[in-house]
Amino acid sequence: MERQESSNGSPSGKPSQGKAFWLQEATDKLQEVWRLPSLRGHQEAPVVDLASGKHVVVMLPTGGGKSLCFQLPALMRGGLCIVITPLVALMKDQCQALRRLGIHAEAWTGNDGDRLLDNVRFGPAQFLYMSPERIDHPMFQARKEFWDVRTIVVDEAHCISQWGHDFRPAFQRIQALSHAFPEAAWGCFTATATREVLKDVASQMPGTATVYAAPMRRSNLAFQVSRWGDRDVELLRWVQTQPGKGLVYVRTRHEAQRWGTRLQQAGMRAEGYHAGLSPRTKDKLQRQWQDGELQVLACTSAFGMGIDAPDVRFVAHAGPPMDLESYVQEAGRAGRDGQPADCVMFVEDNDLPKLKDRIDQQFPDDKAVRQAYQALANAGAVAIGERPEGLTTIDRPEHRSALALLEQAGFIQREASPSDMVGDVQWLHGRNAHHPPEPLAPLAEWLRIHASDKPLSMHPNAYSAKPYHVVLDQLDRLDHLGFIDWRKRESMSFRWLEPRMATERVVVDRSRQAVRWAKLDAMEAYLSHHACRSTMLEQHFAWNDIDHQYEPCGRCDRCTNNPTDMRHALEAELRQGEHHAEDLIRSQAPGQREAAARMLQAWYKAGVVEASQHRVRWRK
Ligand SMILES: [Zn+2]
Repeated sequence: MERQESSNGSPSGKPSQGKAFWLQEATDKLQEVWRLPSLRGHQEAPVVDLASGKHVVVMLPTGGGKSLCFQLPALMRGGLCIVITPLVALMKDQCQALRRLGIHAEAWTGNDGDRLLDNVRFGPAQFLYMSPERIDHPMFQARKEFWDVRTIVVDEAHCISQWGHDFRPAFQRIQALSHAFPEAAWGCFTATATREVLKDVASQMPGTATVYAAPMRRSNLAFQVSRWGDRDVELLRWVQTQPGKGLVYVRTRHEAQRWGTRLQQAGMRAEGYHAGLSPRTKDKLQRQWQDGELQVLACTSAFGMGIDAPDVRFVAHAGPPMDLESYVQEAGRAGRDGQPADCVMFVEDNDLPKLKDRIDQQFPDDKAVRQAYQALANAGAVAIGERPEGLTTIDRPEHRSALALLEQAGFIQREASPSDMVGDVQWLHGRNAHHPPEPLAPLAEWLRIHASDKPLSMHPNAYSAKPYHVVLDQLDRLDHLGFIDWRKRESMSFRWLEPRMATERVVVDRSRQAVRWAKLDAMEAYLSHHACRSTMLEQHFAWNDIDHQYEPCGRCDRCTNNPTDMRHALEAELRQGEHHAEDLIRSQAPGQREAAARMLQAWYKAGVVEASQHRVRWRK
């Protein structure tokens, strides 16, 4: 692990002790609590620094044992460790894992804050997991001065930075923690961050921070980019030839479902996976895939966080993601066991233009931003100079991007409100119609009574106090079975952070727009350059000097591209007899097919081969 910026921060605890002392302490604790023999090499320095009270910023690729790098030093420091993370779904998993080790950990995710935070105050809690949004929650503010917070951990720390691929305004609130707990040591962790992002994160620490960046190279992964043929046809064909477990990453929920079906129709054990599924369905699919009952999941970026499947043999992408950070994270789920694995991105010509359009949609112009501001003010009847106490709810999804810009600019803040998930429902059967299957019967009966005569504007809680997703799932199924017509409407609620100003004075910060474009440029370069793919990825995340020499990986489509070998192989095939041109091209690896197609074309033009009806043969 490389270390930069030596620290002159003010360590607390036992500052006079040297590295050897802290390493021994850490190893003892590791053996006592985790029953593990020793830390891995790249874990040692961050653990020692954080345990001895220094601030650290750590980039560890997925699978690098990140949690241990903060859980262990936090335990050594004693007191309470607050872990800020945007991944609510993972908080509970991590807490359960800690509890199994006999460590007291709480995840503040639901509405039981009073009980839970009192446990933290009066009980023996050692870890409190929470999202950044909760930092200015009144319940947190009321109790924080009673806590002995000695460690603050920020997970997914790239979200702090404007330069990060996943900047979240709520993360700006962590600054408040350094005022509340001035003695705490800070550890910021991320799996993907560029040099600028790591520097930016370090600059936001309350004192000097040491930055550690583990090497990005995963030498068992073979990266390829396929640009030949119909993207979806080639992806499907390629996945069908893969013997092992894999993932197909797609952009949207709709595509995930479509690809799940498409792979099934091709005879594969596959399913679509996306964030819109119920937690029960998601758990089931994850388990089936991990156990090998399913071979492939067609998934959106929602899949993968916290999933530890070592034996993933391939990760295919149907089109490039928005940035290389996302790509590396998703492709990096392959080959965690160290065995060879393939990461192939299938690209078609209009993929990049589509991503460019998406950026334009995400950053509407000033006029659209002001329209959204005005619409929100109208929805809440907010006059100029006013700042309402309560939330303003708006049911205009077309303003979504503009509202997000207004939120990033600090005018408003999105908050969950009970009115956020409403829809219109109408019972479609006559009163004597047959009944739906048993689990759906009570809801069906309720709807038959309440939504028979005219459509009902309904919130899931109007029917039951069960979690939203349970009721939503049942509504979807009743709709699917034809018992009801259910139209979900998604409204959004906002708190006004600033008094409402005259609409024409509203200006938002557009620096994120430039960041998005720069990240797309990097993606474009990755797709088109002729350098080793692994090297290109490594340079993108480089913590090294610009002129650092990287070894080519020897596995990617660029490294294995050998025109002489290809020429011999194609010629040998053709000399044996006539071939369908596409089959001949497909005999090459996905990343080499564009070159193979060009070679055949050149031969045809030169009269070396003759072709008719897509079949080619060597001219005698
Ligand atoms: Zn290479």
